[in-house]
Amino acid sequence: MDFAFENSFHADMQGFYAPAEALRPSAPRLLAFNDRLAERLGFDRDGTDADELARLFSGQDIPKGAAPIALAYAGHQFGHFSPQLGDGRALLLGEIIAPDGARFDIQLKGSGPTAFSRNGDGKAAIGPVLREFLVSEAMAAMGVPTTRALAAVATGDRVQRERAHPGAVLTRVASSHIRVGTFQFFAAHFGADHVIQLSDYSIKRHFPDLADAPNPHLALLDRVIDLQCALIARWLGVGFIHGVMNTDNVAISGETIDYGPCAFMDRFAAHTVFSSIDANGRYAYGRQPQIMHWNMARFAEALLPAIHRVAPADVEAAKALVDAIPARFRTAWEAQVRLKLGLAEGAGDDAGLIDGLFDELEKHSVDFTSFFRALAMLLRGDGATMQALLPAPDAMAPWIADWWRRIERGAANPIELADAMDGVNPLYIPRNHIVEATLDAAEGGDLDPWLDLLDVVRHPFAARAGLERFAEPAPVDAAPYTTFCGT
Ligand code: AMP
Ligand code: MG
Repeated sequence: MDFAFENSFHADMQGFYAPAEALRPSAPRLLAFNDRLAERLGFDRDGTDADELARLFSGQDIPKGAAPIALAYAGHQFGHFSPQLGDGRALLLGEIIAPDGARFDIQLKGSGPTAFSRNGDGKAAIGPVLREFLVSEAMAAMGVPTTRALAAVATGDRVQRERAHPGAVLTRVASSHIRVGTFQFFAAHFGADHVIQLSDYSIKRHFPDLADAPNPHLALLDRVIDLQCALIARWLGVGFIHGVMNTDNVAISGETIDYGPCAFMDRFAAHTVFSSIDANGRYAYGRQPQIMHWNMARFAEALLPAIHRVAPADVEAAKALVDAIPARFRTAWEAQVRLKLGLAEGAGDDAGLIDGLFDELEKHSVDFTSFFRALAMLLRGDGATMQALLPAPDAMAPWIADWWRRIERGAANPIELADAMDGVNPLYIPRNHIVEATLDAAEGGDLDPWLDLLDVVRHPFAARAGLERFAEPAPVDAAPYTTFCGT
């Protein structure tokens, strides 16, 4: 298998990383390979068998042209600044250019300790690796910006956590691994010159159209805020809870990154938290927009030396950009919900309809994902699906009547509208109770349930016969779901 690496971060950003070496796994075995992604990246898999892929994507064989490095970064973790984090369990093999010209990082995650591992072992267990693979594929299929998973390989070694687990390595593909925390690291330790260097590199790599802006660093802040508003609106729209929105887990590309204790909400409740380490609910579903705002304020702070260097007066402009985030997010969110509700054209009273919806969903503990599909069924003349979903026949009746009136004001054909809604409202998401069962089976050596689920979530929108159980909410008596960190 051929890679044409072109390692711009390695070449241009000396001092921003440490060289790294992968641990050689004892018996690498391919668990999953993402053929469609490989094709999109322009990898020619011809003649490469599973064993060779396993050696390549576990760190056993380092491909020609790779220059493995671990990136330096800092970050606010649960609100507290950690000046020294960095890739402690990941290494960047290099960058490749896809046939369409797009540049991607190829990173091994779980490939052993680096200069930034502190007390960690640098390894990953099979469960978190397969969870990231699955959830990032689901997100990509739903059209949510995300890093991707190219391969999952079992290492043949054990990884000690609260107990021993089979080890694995995930190959992650990202448009880059530059995080808010990367800026924070260089702002905290080195100052303006380094921040400017990183900002210039980021602009060249991700947003070349900003290079000629009067103050490119201010323009970068503006663009990243835009992408974060759009991203978090997408998360909320599919019921996604990231779980660890620390600033080191925020990619400036606008991709969802670092799938740890993430999960999708079943019954709607804004305070929902799944992560075992988020006892105070800092990263609850409904707090994600505020946390994004907070994270962008930290990004602005890290950029200030660069912004100030170009034009001292722009510091005020940066502050204004941060202050405007709640309104900007609200616009992105309303647009998202309008799509979900089939309300193509904005109207003055949408805000009330939107807020009212979430109050009602919470009051009646309605399954978030199923609700929007049931709404589309109403447009097709089927009221039974909604009836079956709601706790009482007239629950939400006033809201549904309001929505109906709003729909009638538009002239759209109801069937076409229902189809459009089904194109944005997933039917199949990685349901927690099913994800957990497939990860348990995989840990026990049976990968088939996980592969079945992967196939289901890769096609989230169109109903398929025989897959009914994948669309069903968790049983009402299911124990509260908890996810654990530690990929
Ligand atoms: P995360 O929770 O994935 O965002 O990771 C936070 C920080 O801890 C990052 O700097 C990771 O590289 C580091 N880290 C997490 N787990 C390990 C591990 N097993 N070994 C080394 N470093 C780790
Ligand atoms: Mg992280």
